[in-house]
Amino acid sequence: MKVKCPKCGFEDEGKFCSNCGAPLPQPNSSLEQKAPTAPPEALWVDRCPVCKSGKLLLITKKKFFGLVSAEKFECDSCGAIFRPKGDKYKLTKVTDTSNIIWQEYGNQLLTEREWKNIAYGGMSDAKQKEADMEYWMTQLKEGNIPIHMGGEAPILLKKKEELIFALPNIFLWEPRAVRRTIGGYGGPSFRVAKGVYFRVGGFRAKSESNEELRTIDQGSLTLTNKRLVFSGAKRTINIDLRKIVSVEPYSDGIAIRREGKEKTQYFTGIDQAKLTITVGERVYKEPFSGLILMYLIEGLIKKIE
Ligand SMILES: [Zn+2]
Ligand SMILES: [Zn+2]
Repeated sequence: MKVKCPKCGFEDEGKFCSNCGAPLPQPNSSLEQKAPTAPPEALWVDRCPVCKSGKLLLITKKKFFGLVSAEKFECDSCGAIFRPKGDKYKLTKVTDTSNIIWQEYGNQLLTEREWKNIAYGGMSDAKQKEADMEYWMTQLKEGNIPIHMGGEAPILLKKKEELIFALPNIFLWEPRAVRRTIGGYGGPSFRVAKGVYFRVGGFRAKSESNEELRTIDQGSLTLTNKRLVFSGAKRTINIDLRKIVSVEPYSDGIAIRREGKEKTQYFTGIDQAKLTITVGERVYKEPFSGLILMYLIEGLIKKIE
């Protein structure tokens, strides 16, 4: 199957683009997910995104003795009003504010293409991305998306062990004192609420509000389908994925607690790596994050058991 090179646009197959050498999105990291889009020949004014039945008419109002004119587009059926700003349009008024389009896109400035997609049952680019990411994350935590980011493995892989990534320049943090955590162990907990893809906080905020955390070491972090290994200048930490008790994500790192260990360990700096995520025909380049790593680990654990 040929795919488009994300770097140069050349159509090729295999792991790397034979034109520029960039890694190609692998067929198994892309997901089929149809998003309704408008036919290319449609004009955005042909179908009102709010009522989907009327047409948008350009209304020009002369001001100041005809020197300045104010333009707006008004739906001839529902009366929705769009005002241009640059090359975008803002939905500024509807007659029925309980309308779902108003609820989702009221006062948003979107392009003609986005309004057209909405008129045909699609979404704005931002909402489409959020929907795609959530769908991708759900598949990731089910273990349905094999990821191979490559890198040099600083560890010896065992039989049937596959390298998923090896990231350099990772910091290890630990709390100075051990605080007893209450509660029994009932399987690993992956603590994150639904729909928070864009809203996971950074580790910096946590470390600044918590003076008990300190940097212990710097090194590389390697993930395989069986374990997570930190290889630092002072320490090597070998984490069997099945021994993970809890994972907490940050935008730039991850906190991990394991069975039989008192201290939570924090690994930061993972956002330096970039992932190419393909959903349907849409390609996103995203920094690697604690949330992606958390779901990736959750998916891997499901495949071990
Ligand atoms: Zn290329
Ligand atoms: Zn309308």
